[in-house]
Amino acid sequence: MPIYEYRCGKCNHVFEELQKIGEGNENVVCPVCKEPHPDRLPSCCNSLGGTEGSSFDSIPSSPSCSSGGFS
Ligand SMILES: [Zn+2]
Repeated sequence: MPIYEYRCGKCNHVFEELQKIGEGNENVVCPVCKEPHPDRLPSCCNSLGGTEGSSFDSIPSSPSCSSGGFS
């Protein structure tokens, strides 16, 4: 399951949430102030600049580790 990054619209706390693919923010609440429906941040911020290169290179995006229930 991918990890999405969220920012609370109330207290601006940024946190990560492990979710199923295609799941929205309906069930996500801020861990600090319990505000529901935070803003999802774009998760692919590193794609522009390749400064260091190969050490932190590729996150595999294939759904090969699914042992069951995708929708
Ligand atoms: Zn909050």
